[in-house]
Amino acid sequence: MAKKQKKNKIPSKKYAKYKVEGKTIKRAITCPKCGPGVFLAEHKNRQTCGTCHYTVMKSKTLEKSKEKPK
Ligand SMILES: [Zn+2]
Repeated sequence: MAKKQKKNKIPSKKYAKYKVEGKTIKRAITCPKCGPGVFLAEHKNRQTCGTCHYTVMKSKTLEKSKEKPK
């Protein structure tokens, strides 16, 4: 009889999205569609909501419109 292996549940990392600074709580960017509590996943150039697939494109650095010289 093989022992039943307990599946290690991956704990939610939502707590990591909250940062307490002094007396104020800073939250990560939440989904405007799903409301508070649903955070947007960080991607290289965008943020997406895993629930409704809402996507926010990051425009921190304006796209370099310089086309590569041929
Ligand atoms: Zn959403």
